[in-house]
Amino acid sequence: MSARVISGKEVAEEILSNDLRSRVEKLKGNDIVPKLVVILVGEMKASASYVAQKEKFAGKAGIESEVRRFEDTISEEEILDEINKINSDSSIHGVIVQLPLPKHISVTKVLNSIDPSKDVDGFTPSNVGKLFLGEDTLVSCTPKGIMSILKSADVNLTGMNVTVIGRSNIVGKPVSILCQQQNATVTMCHSKTRDLNAKLADADVIIVAAGVPKFINGDQIPNGAVVVDVGIHNIEGKLCGDVEFKSASKKASAITPVPGGVGPMTVCALIENTIIAAERSS
Ligand code: NAD
Repeated sequence: MSARVISGKEVAEEILSNDLRSRVEKLKGNDIVPKLVVILVGEMKASASYVAQKEKFAGKAGIESEVRRFEDTISEEEILDEINKINSDSSIHGVIVQLPLPKHISVTKVLNSIDPSKDVDGFTPSNVGKLFLGEDTLVSCTPKGIMSILKSADVNLTGMNVTVIGRSNIVGKPVSILCQQQNATVTMCHSKTRDLNAKLADADVIIVAAGVPKFINGDQIPNGAVVVDVGIHNIEGKLCGDVEFKSASKKASAITPVPGGVGPMTVCALIENTIIAAERSS
């Protein structure tokens, strides 16, 4: 078997053309230009590259984006002040703080200071709580992007076994909730899980967000499973995911590549969240 490769890049472009651009035009017709502000602290190469991708996609959607750059010596108080200003600026609809932050700044404090209605990364306790309760909210971008990928691949999760590897607040936990909301039976695995292979054996869908390069290979994947690879690693200048693509694609029925899989969908979800925030502000 050779898996169908689900291109997140193509799905993101389709969502842009078929949905996002027209929503932006409609907002502009009502004199609202959706605007995203990205707070970038320090000079990390990977962060700068992620931010550039977000700016590019925002431009394609026709929304405004602004990157506010700060030295890594900035104090926690100064960042909190900046977020306060953004919270009260009605021309800004969404704000994200590019992680990681320098060690002297509390990520929790910073994220919790964002107005939930502008929290387009979906990280504030209020938005996470609403997601947990199944209420309408700004859903964090990577899990939202994963759900769009599965939808685009016509995967109906009702009754399916989904195994999620990784229990982070930004990927594993929220994506497991979203899958449950779509009637899947979810098995959550993490670094202390015993016999991971047994948890994969009857999976229809496997979502891998372990942060370990090529952690899962074809031998661990049941025939015909759908594999979503969230990981992203730069190994000696070459990008790879948490899944060993070559062997996995011989067993899976569909698989997301790295790069070009979940990454572009995460960016697309961020821009959609900014549009949603702007729509709700009107
Ligand atoms: P994290 O480090 O916060 O969490 C990793 C999780 O994997 C933990 O819950 C841990 O228990 C689990 N884990 C680690 N080793 C394991 C093992 N041996 N067996 C089972 N579980 C294990 O990571 P994260 O922030 O969720 O990110 C995961 C990966 O996804 C990283 O490579 C990250 O770069 C990538 N990522 C990509 C995107 C994107 O847009 N493509 C977005 C977010 C994260």
